[in-house]
Amino acid sequence: MSTWVLRGARVAGSDAAEDLVLTDGVVSGRAPAGAADVPAGARTVDADGLVALPGLVDLHTHLREPGREDAETVETGTRAAAAGGWTAVHAMANTSPVADTAGVVEQVHRLGVEAGWCDVRPVGAVTVGLEGRRLAELGAMATSAARVRVFSDDGHCVADPVLMRRALEYVRAFDGVVAQHAQDPRLTEGAQMNEGEVSAVLGLAGWPSVAEEAVIARDVLLAAHVGSRVHVCHVSTAGSVEIVRLAKQRGLPVTAEVTPHHLVLTDEEVRSYDPVYKVNPPLRTARDVHALREAVADGTIDVIATDHAPHPTEAKDCEWAAAAMGMTGLETALAVVQEALVDTGLLGWGEVAARMSAAPARIGRLDDAALGLHAHGRGLAVGEPAHVTLHDPAARWTVEPAAQQTMGWNTPFRGRTLPGRVVATFLRGAPTLLDGRLVDPDARA
Ligand SMILES: [Zn+2]
Repeated sequence: MSTWVLRGARVAGSDAAEDLVLTDGVVSGRAPAGAADVPAGARTVDADGLVALPGLVDLHTHLREPGREDAETVETGTRAAAAGGWTAVHAMANTSPVADTAGVVEQVHRLGVEAGWCDVRPVGAVTVGLEGRRLAELGAMATSAARVRVFSDDGHCVADPVLMRRALEYVRAFDGVVAQHAQDPRLTEGAQMNEGEVSAVLGLAGWPSVAEEAVIARDVLLAAHVGSRVHVCHVSTAGSVEIVRLAKQRGLPVTAEVTPHHLVLTDEEVRSYDPVYKVNPPLRTARDVHALREAVADGTIDVIATDHAPHPTEAKDCEWAAAAMGMTGLETALAVVQEALVDTGLLGWGEVAARMSAAPARIGRLDDAALGLHAHGRGLAVGEPAHVTLHDPAARWTVEPAAQQTMGWNTPFRGRTLPGRVVATFLRGAPTLLDGRLVDPDARA
């Protein structure tokens, strides 16, 4: 029998210090600090001053394997996830080959199990090869061993309204969701950054807000028409927030996510011409950042997802126009969220748990009791799976790419000092991270 006692943690959403007891993969006890029954042989963690969150669930991660193992592997990406406090990640489909068949999603799922750092839930492509021409084998992926519930052509928009409609109709049969990368391809041809004052000064081709907003508006109407769920990836503009807010007020079946980097960085960063700031959707304006923060606070935006997008050095160590789009994020997300939302008073830790664990698990259907101990996002009540993230809100640390687990050096926060650090992660009651250090699978108990 394996038992861990986390002594004196403040469980997200509550103010009291408590002892959390984890036995054989399940939360077996919660008691006021110092009052828990500690069985013989139990190991303890001094969690005084730490916040205990339910294990974080990322709805949007790029693990790059198969095919781009020079950028990241399932092993390195999930090590980064464990270091960042994540116990489950959804692996995006733009691999090589594309995850558009049962065979590929089962391969990704199996690689995740073998690595053992967190649960890996493959996302299936909506269209064959992400090409936007024909629907992929959605049903075969849903009934495969990977049990895919989230489908996305992320990196590309499902621009054809007829294909989008068919995809929504198809996933309804197994309560799946289509996660749309909202980007009108015609309105963003050649785009290099946000269209606005800064792009005009720099002379870079602009990516206008309306290219995102028009697709979101169309998709929420399509989802309502079909009676199916649509999820909007990485919302980046104030106008998108308004559309999602209006859709929710009308009771339409839409959910939305925002990335940590869109909550703190603006297109002013692009004046440096440093390709680390090149990302899709692009960094927007301070007005957009303000609207996104408000939308997370009022629940219009359900989820904070990393869009962790590692690239090999040569893809970023070049001139702006030639650089790949994307930033890493698994190891900095919770600290950035603390800086942007918690330390500013916009969000309490209970709401952080809702946006970074419960909602992404619900949207990805990882909260399904039928999944047993693989269920996530269900909170830290007695009897629930013991996925726990311990975070030290008083810590301060400077981001150094060389010290991170991801193979990607493309973090926009390098050299920055961030508040709050993940110190331990428990997956099914066993530590994947302890005292800030990863714990190899064969050293866990
Ligand atoms: Zn992405």
